[in-house]
Amino acid sequence: MSEAVTIDTSVGLCLLRRSSRRTLAISVLPDGEVELVAPEDSTLSDIAAKVKLRSKWVRKQRWEFSNMNSSRPPLKYHSGATHRYLGRQYRLKIQKGNIPEVKLKGSFFHITTPDKSSNEVQRMLAHWMRQHAKKQFSKRLSQWEPWCAHRSLRKPILHIRSMSKRWGSAHQDGRIFLNPDLIRTPSVCIDYVIAHEVCHLQHPNHDKSFYQLLSEVYPNWKAIKLRLEQADF
Ligand SMILES: [Zn+2]
Repeated sequence: MSEAVTIDTSVGLCLLRRSSRRTLAISVLPDGEVELVAPEDSTLSDIAAKVKLRSKWVRKQRWEFSNMNSSRPPLKYHSGATHRYLGRQYRLKIQKGNIPEVKLKGSFFHITTPDKSSNEVQRMLAHWMRQHAKKQFSKRLSQWEPWCAHRSLRKPILHIRSMSKRWGSAHQDGRIFLNPDLIRTPSVCIDYVIAHEVCHLQHPNHDKSFYQLLSEVYPNWKAIKLRLEQADF
């Protein structure tokens, strides 16, 4: 199959690939992105017309995915509740104590706090996650510095920012914003998001050259992207 290009259609920007298939295939990914696989000889206007005919179906798929995502049960903060760190599941063990502390040991988050309310436990765990996110992300991002220097790109600078709908974003001045919740996902997912954002320093849009570069630096990106979208982190 060929490299993906982006085309504008009645349902917004779609990823388009060409293959030897004889009809157009339309699929909606869990993040709402639409992927098209079209026969080699079909024209862009043919493809756009076919997408238009299926636009009601695309909207329905997106709606179902958005319901699925929002019906994800909220995280809980009592003893026994499970939380992920680097893709692994841990249970909370909360005990009363004067010196507040969060410690990862065995398969548990040991949380000591004078105030065992779920608000306080949530605050402590979020703080711990953010600290560890900073450490892990900056270690991984700094490995890209020579790559960026070699391409005369700005040195990537890490910023941690909570975002409800995305894992990361990049600015041309070198700032890379990463969602602290990414620390809950496996390290391959973190590396994929970082590779994706670093590629944006070279190519700001999701165009053909962007995906070419991403496939060069992270050949397995598609599988990891799906894993990130489908798993419950
Ligand atoms: Zn992107």
